[in-house]
Amino acid sequence: MRLVLPPGVSETVFQKALQALAGVVGKQWVLATDEDRETFMDFYAAGDADLHVPSAAVGPQSLEEVQAIVRIANEYKVPLWPISRGKNLGYGAAAPCMSGTVVLDLARMNRILDVNERFGYCLLEPGVGFFDLFHYLQANKIKLWMSIPANAWGSVVGNALERGYGYTPYGENTRNICGLEVVLPNGELVRTGNGAMSNSVSWQLFKYGYGPSWDQLFCQSNFGIVTKMGMWLMPEPEATLGLNIQLPNPDDVGWAIDELAPLRMRGVIEQSPSIGNSLRFVASATQRSQWYQGDGALPDDVLLEILKKNNLGWWTVNLRLYGYDEVNEVHARIIREAFRKHVKQEIETVKWHRGDSIENSGAGVPATNALQIINWRGGRGGHIGFSPVLPAASEHVLKQFHSTKKRYEEIGVDYYGSFTLFERYTTNVNMMVYDRDDQEMTSKVRALFKVLIADAAREGYSEYRTHISYMDDVALTFDFNHHSLLRLNEAVKEALDPNGILAPGKQGVWPRARRPARA
Ligand code: ADP
Repeated sequence: MRLVLPPGVSETVFQKALQALAGVVGKQWVLATDEDRETFMDFYAAGDADLHVPSAAVGPQSLEEVQAIVRIANEYKVPLWPISRGKNLGYGAAAPCMSGTVVLDLARMNRILDVNERFGYCLLEPGVGFFDLFHYLQANKIKLWMSIPANAWGSVVGNALERGYGYTPYGENTRNICGLEVVLPNGELVRTGNGAMSNSVSWQLFKYGYGPSWDQLFCQSNFGIVTKMGMWLMPEPEATLGLNIQLPNPDDVGWAIDELAPLRMRGVIEQSPSIGNSLRFVASATQRSQWYQGDGALPDDVLLEILKKNNLGWWTVNLRLYGYDEVNEVHARIIREAFRKHVKQEIETVKWHRGDSIENSGAGVPATNALQIINWRGGRGGHIGFSPVLPAASEHVLKQFHSTKKRYEEIGVDYYGSFTLFERYTTNVNMMVYDRDDQEMTSKVRALFKVLIADAAREGYSEYRTHISYMDDVALTFDFNHHSLLRLNEAVKEALDPNGILAPGKQGVWPRARRPARA
């Protein structure tokens, strides 16, 4: 694999920078062999991993080392791409947006600094994985629950910064952030919110601080390197009640959203249920060739046959109520009545009480088996996610569902989507699963992605998060007043990062000197 240097940096200067980095973290934590570089590439990429090749990676162990690395990056004008654990699968994994960027891997900074059961919060370093925090809470019998995404391989901090989500009432991970410690690209160290008061006793309690409030400005941004994050955790409830519902027909997702959205907004349902097409269960347990050998997307009748054999509806919804038994029962009755208007079959009910095994509780329990879906097509699998945000209303959901499914069929990819219902909107994650070595398929997927962005933008749907290959495309759909938001972002970027060393191109925000690199 050839060495890709940061644009505008000579090999001599780059080697000097690597030496200086080794002086800070030790030689063994500057990773610059071909094998190292490959490790930090997007190993799920749809045939375009070579657009995002890191020049090296560096792994600090402390805040002081991060600060020293930032000083070196500014001196040699070598850009850095911070990652927490780098498992951002489907969105670029550990790879940088701009080739030649050095990955700043924070995985070694993995201390759980504080967990407070009384007030329900933790303070974490970026390398703390979902499994680490879960085991810590379990081992210490701390009655706080986590919110965990479908793939729990990554870090709590990285996921919250990217606005990932889980399925408990604390599911919007970014909303749980309360106070950050950040190294700015110019080397300055700040604490946000009440952490700005050195002796504050409420850094993890009060989100806003005094004056402008910054936590969200460090989410999906390239304005700073987060070295500590405060995060609220959910107190363990007395009881939970799960309702597992099968929806027989493709269009049922429309009425289901209309029935559930008002209940979600009123707090009858406090978590964010995901209505996903049931093929996901089949795809994580079996391979496509076991069911169908033909070309093109799975025909509707074959899919129905597969679902029937597996006792599944077209969509599956697993709802969960959290709190007190009596309250859950009342809420469950209201939800059952809403569904009974449309479907006749029994709704499966799962009950949990404090003291029962956590496995069936509806608590966030980390797992990685959701990743199995990449084996669906055979070969070395991968997936990419197209994730627009829509109003929680059937007219939008059905329009988007049919238009996306049709686009999938045009290129022969099986439809694989879910609608996760928040208070007022739904996040529609569409996965495209492919064999990474099938060039014909991956090039179709890349073309499809651009079409989906354009289709959605025409309807007024934006993406909540995107893959590194499409960060500019999505940024450009935010076009009000000739893209004035992008100009605001660029102005802040320039003020905080005059040398343009932090994550160039992230979310379409480029430092001035590198702006021509915009696609
Ligand atoms: P995870 O740890 O969940 O696998 P990643 O480490 O892949 O998540 O992070 C996802 C993205 O979030 C990164 O590509 C980067 O843009 C951003 N990010 C992650 N950690 C940090 C951090 N500590 N500071 C700033 N940005 C970060």
